[in-house]
Amino acid sequence: MSTQQNQHAIVIGGSIAGLLAARVLSEYFERVTIVDRDQLPLTAEPRRGVPQSVQPHVLYAKGYQILEALFPGIGEALSHAGAVPFDWGQDFLYFQAGHWTPTTETPVGMKSYTCTRPLLESTIRQQVSHIPNVEFLPGQRVIGLLLKGSEIKGIKLAQRELSAQLVVDASGRSTQTPQWLQDLGFTPPPVTVIDPRLGYATRRYRIPNPPSCKILLISQEPPHQKRLGYLAQVENDQWIATLGGYGQDYPPIEHSGFLEFAQSLADPMFYQAIAQAEPTSEIRAHRATMNRLYHYERIEMPAGLIAIGDSVCALCPVYGQGMTVSGLSALVLQRWLAKSKSANFQKQLAQSNVFPWSLATGFDSKFPTTKGAIAPNPIAKLFQAYTNRLTEIAQNDIEVHLQFLQMAHMLKSPNVLFHPKLILKALF
Ligand SMILES: Cc1cc2nc3c(=O)[nH]c(=O)nc-3n(C[C@H](O)[C@H](O)[C@H](O)COP(=O)(O)OP(=O)(O)OC[C@H]3O[C@@H](n4cnc5c(N)ncnc54)[C@H](O)[C@@H]3O)c2cc1C
Repeated sequence: MSTQQNQHAIVIGGSIAGLLAARVLSEYFERVTIVDRDQLPLTAEPRRGVPQSVQPHVLYAKGYQILEALFPGIGEALSHAGAVPFDWGQDFLYFQAGHWTPTTETPVGMKSYTCTRPLLESTIRQQVSHIPNVEFLPGQRVIGLLLKGSEIKGIKLAQRELSAQLVVDASGRSTQTPQWLQDLGFTPPPVTVIDPRLGYATRRYRIPNPPSCKILLISQEPPHQKRLGYLAQVENDQWIATLGGYGQDYPPIEHSGFLEFAQSLADPMFYQAIAQAEPTSEIRAHRATMNRLYHYERIEMPAGLIAIGDSVCALCPVYGQGMTVSGLSALVLQRWLAKSKSANFQKQLAQSNVFPWSLATGFDSKFPTTKGAIAPNPIAKLFQAYTNRLTEIAQNDIEVHLQFLQMAHMLKSPNVLFHPKLILKALF
C-alpha cells in the first residue's frame, strides 16, 4: 500500500538480492527502480557485474520455496527454460568423511532446480520485468548517495541524480556503501573478514548418456583434506564441474592439471564422470571467496537507506547459501515494510544472517590456513564434538542425514539436532 512516504524506492544492483527486494518493494511503493552498472540481458548470459556467474550456483530447497512464494509458478518457468528438477533427499550424492551418505528411493519433498546461474538470474529477472511498477535502469553505475539533512534521499549517477524515499543497497561484494557513508560524515560499519583462501576452477561438459548423477559433492575435510569436487547437471544436457582448494591449494585451469587435481579427490567418482566427457567450455577460476560481514546493525544508519544480500553478508560459496540468504533478506524486508518500517531493519537482518554466517565461518575456521579463523569456545567445541558424532551416524542413517540437510538448507532451526531421538542415537 503506497503513501506519500512510499512513492519511489531505488535498488542498487539487479542481481538476485536486488531482484527479490524489488519484488517485495513493489507491493509497498508506487515505483521501484532497479539500477545496475551492467546491461541486464533477459537471456541467460554471464555478465561482468556478477563475475561469479560462470561458477556453479546450487539453489537450496529453502531458496526455491522463497522463489515460489514470491513468483508463483517460477518452477515451471525454470523447467521450461531447461533447468533440471531434483530432490535433495533422492538425488544428492554426498561424499563426506570417507563415506557416501545415503539417498532415499523416493523424493522427500526437498525440491529445487539445478541450472547455470545466468539461467536462474534471467528467469527471475523475466518475472520481475512483468511487475508493472518496477523499472530497470541498466548500464548506470551508482557513484554515491544523496543526502538531504540527515536522511538519504536518493542516489548519484555519473550524469544525474535520482531521488527516492528508500535506497536499498544490493550491490554485492563490490558495495561502496561503507565508503559513501564515511564520505557523508557517518560512521561506516565495522567489518569482520574470515578468508579461507579458497579457489574454484570450473568447466562445463556434455553429459554422456546415460548420466551417472544429477548432483554430487565430494567434500573437503578439515583440517587437512583441502580439496573438493562438485558436479551438477544444468540446462542443455551439460554438467558444470567445479574443483575447489582451500588455503591457496588452487586447482589448475589447464586441461591436464584440472584432471590431475580431480584424480586427487577423496573419491574417484568426480574424475570418472568427467575423464571421458567432452568439454564444452574453458576452465574458469574464481578466488574472491572470503566471508565478509558488515555490521550495519552496530551503527546509526541514516534514514532512507538499507543494505541487503552480499553487500552485507558475503559467504564462502562452498556452503551454497548466498542466494537463499538473499531470499531470506527479502522476507525480512517484507516483514519490516508490513510493520511500517517501525523496527531497525539492519538489526532484524543481522538476526537472520546469524545461522548461515556461523555455519560458513565455523567450518572454514577448522582449516589452519584460514585467515582470521575464529577459535571455538568450550560450548562450540562441545557442539562440534556432538555434530561430528551425528555426522558419522548420518553416513548409515538416512533419518539423521535428512535432519542435517534440512538444517543446512535453513528449512529447520539447528535445534532439530537436539531432538531426543537424535541425542539417543549419538549416545548409544
Ligand atoms: C564463486 C561463487 C560461487 C557461488 N555459489 C553459490 C551457490 O552455489 N549457491 C548460492 O546460493 N550462492 C552462491 N554464491 C553467492 C551468490 O552469488 C550471491 O549470494 C548472490 O548472487 C546474491 O548476491 P547479491 O545479489 O547480493 O550480489 P551480486 O550477485 O554480486 O550482484 C551485485 C549486483 O550489483 C551490481 N552493482 C554493483 N555495484 C554497482 C554500482 N555501483 N552501481 C550499479 N550497480 C552495481 C552488479 O552489476 C550486480 O548486478 C556464490 C558466490 C561466489 C563468489
